[in-house]
Amino acid sequence: MKIDFVDLKAQYASISREVDKAIRRVVVNSDFILGKDVESFEREFAAYCEVAHAIGVDSGASALELVLRAYDVGDGDEVITASHTFSATAFAISATGAKPVFVDVDQHTYNMNPALVEAAITPRTKAIMPVHLYGQPADIDEISRIARKHNLLLIEDACQAHGAKFQGKRVGSFGDSAAFSFYPGKNLGAYGDGGMIVTNDATVADKLRILRNCGQSEKYKHVMVGFNRRLDSLQAAVLRAKLPHLDDWNQARRTAAALYKELLADADHVVTPREGADRTHVYHLYVIQHPHRDALMTHLREQGVSAGLHYPTPVHLQPCYEFLKVPRGSLPVTESLASRVISLPMYPELTREQIEFVCDSVKQFPVQ
Ligand SMILES: *Cc1c(COP(=O)(O)O)cnc(C)c1O
Repeated sequence: MKIDFVDLKAQYASISREVDKAIRRVVVNSDFILGKDVESFEREFAAYCEVAHAIGVDSGASALELVLRAYDVGDGDEVITASHTFSATAFAISATGAKPVFVDVDQHTYNMNPALVEAAITPRTKAIMPVHLYGQPADIDEISRIARKHNLLLIEDACQAHGAKFQGKRVGSFGDSAAFSFYPGKNLGAYGDGGMIVTNDATVADKLRILRNCGQSEKYKHVMVGFNRRLDSLQAAVLRAKLPHLDDWNQARRTAAALYKELLADADHVVTPREGADRTHVYHLYVIQHPHRDALMTHLREQGVSAGLHYPTPVHLQPCYEFLKVPRGSLPVTESLASRVISLPMYPELTREQIEFVCDSVKQFPVQ
């Protein structure tokens, strides 16, 4: 058996009629730039996230960067975030001229450890940016409490957590604003790049609409030095066709995760993911820990199973951030996870037989 890490073709096969119709609608109407589909998708995605406003942009990275810019985060400011994440989280902070300040993650949920946040706050701190990593909500009520107490902005990096819930409420509705990515492999993925900012703040929403569209408040009236970071209408049309399926897809991911957990319960040395209290994890990734991760990955590949690494090098130890001088050893949980994590195949269409095969392959890995 050959099992891919993700299978976007299987998903397209299940919704091809709706998607083809949506794409055709945009092309027939030549409604390519900030068209009706962008507007409708923004409205539909805002409703889905239980917030008032959504602003479509060209990627998750842009969503994170523009939202920080909309709050005037920049030179001399610090933003507290996690290092156990995709690098774009930190790059968005750096792009504004601000400095990313990394705190360690919790060893069970792999998300920002709220107990470490207050020690990282300085007079320059402007915002806290937790990541809902792998599809599991961060400890968002505790982090919100700290943000409120210190009068800091709270920006959620929800790029891996479309539809996840904390205490029954969607992620993206807790912070001042939140950023989503529609990179093809995300739980809600476009057929190319795309992103979204969601917020209840009408002023910030207005500013974001200007920032993403070349700083224009109306055609050729540039009230800000802006960017071309618009969500493409074709992508918005694809995403509109997919959004009604998202809850079912997330449920299928949860079912797959439960089967993985059951079948791996007796696997030597394997640590399976834990769900924190009050959270609905949507398993963008199914990440286990293993002490011989690299050898396990090679073994799985030989069995025809593709696994992933999320992420093999913490952001603070990337060559591009040498200048920050964050020493090795300063984020022990993050650094340990980087050498132990391995992501097993995860997508809604994964079958019971496929999951059984992956788990058998893991269990056949010779114990070292
Ligand atoms: C995917 C992702 C991003 C960036 O999204 P793009 O759409 O690829 O730019 C940012 N943060 C996290 C945690 C992500 O997983």
